[in-house]
Amino acid sequence: MPTLAVPTTVPVNSSIARMKESATLAVTARAAALKAQGVDVVGFGVGEPDFDTPASIKAAAIRALESGRTKYEPTPGAADARKAIANKLQVENGIPVQWQQVSITCGAKYAVAMALHMLIEPGRGDEVILPTPAWVSYRPLIELAGGRCIEVAGSFENGFRVTAEQVAAVITPRTVGILLNSPSNPCGIAYPVEELRAIADVVADHPQVCVLSDEIYEKLVYPEVTPGLSHWSPGSDPRLSDRTITVNGMSKAYAMTGWRLGYIATPANGGGWMKEFIKLQGQQTNNVSSFAMPAIVEALTNGAADVERMREAFARRAILVHQRLVTMPRLSSVASNGAFYSFPDISACMGLTTPRGRLIDGAQAFAEALLDEHAVAVVPGEDFGECARRNIRISFACGEPQIEKGLSRLGEFVTSLR
Ligand code: PMP
Ligand code: GLU
Repeated sequence: MPTLAVPTTVPVNSSIARMKESATLAVTARAAALKAQGVDVVGFGVGEPDFDTPASIKAAAIRALESGRTKYEPTPGAADARKAIANKLQVENGIPVQWQQVSITCGAKYAVAMALHMLIEPGRGDEVILPTPAWVSYRPLIELAGGRCIEVAGSFENGFRVTAEQVAAVITPRTVGILLNSPSNPCGIAYPVEELRAIADVVADHPQVCVLSDEIYEKLVYPEVTPGLSHWSPGSDPRLSDRTITVNGMSKAYAMTGWRLGYIATPANGGGWMKEFIKLQGQQTNNVSSFAMPAIVEALTNGAADVERMREAFARRAILVHQRLVTMPRLSSVASNGAFYSFPDISACMGLTTPRGRLIDGAQAFAEALLDEHAVAVVPGEDFGECARRNIRISFACGEPQIEKGLSRLGEFVTSLR
């Protein structure tokens, strides 16, 4: 006789139970399920390059696997991979970081999550400033670490960028950090260097505030859209370098999302901060796949031409998407000059109804109706911040024919609303 299962009475940790699931991953799963049923879905959901990982990077990992590199390695990664990262951060970004102050993590996502745990003392009322619209995972991760997320909204009129004055206005004695993400997911914009420097000027006056700079889209900046635009790392500012934690990774620049390779670096406390981080990582996940180490070295040493090829393609798509969006009724958008997102405002669609009778009363309803009625997956704005309830995110990390098809359907959809 099988024993009857007794239901557990142990509740899941309430911070986890309260946490929302990732909206970007949820939309992606929904679109994949529809595709599996044979629906011709255009996927503007997930932020993931459509390109394959460059061949020489794959070859480096294959060689490593074949030569038996299949064992544990030091928690923060192999010395040569950490040296390649430190060298990149010093030479390209001007960040004064030693290789011992770098750790390779399971995606940039893990690096962001654990950096927040390092910064925030639960129960102390610690605040982290988050310029919004911002990536869906930041707020849940700040809250899970026990912090309060202080959203500062970048206005549509200012191209979704927050100003130094806005940042200055929300700093309190409880502020422990500000999370910067330029180029931005979901806004698809990169801050001009002088605007980031103005924010750095404000932070420099408040020694209790650390900067967590998520630079995962660093390589995807489009001077083709905004002449002269370039990337700047706050960790290179001598006033801030000792309290800036820089996060980056292989996912976006090298089309390596599935490899799960990110990294974190900071010279803070003469390397003491990273020692603590590595201790935490050692208890939680340990090193990333050992055979990935030579792939990191290969990407950072010889990958520039591949990165540039993909960047140029994204720049062309950014221009194409904006050209198409501005012709559509009831949508307003800012031209993307970074990352691979457009974040149109759909306010003019509010209160209207689809031909199948669905009321558009928010971005969630818009995205659901667009997927159900026109088979286009986009991410609704709600989870990107309070100010983003009337936006949708379009990821244009897909081929131009897909972009053309998806935007034609989007145009038909917004035109059909009554
Ligand atoms: N930061 C931002 C802004 C992102 O969009 C993403 C999404 N991939 C990540 C971090 C995490 O990247 P990964 O974990 O793939 O390195
Ligand atoms: N960051 C990507 C996105 O925003 C991948 C999914 C995720 O991790 O959120 O779509």
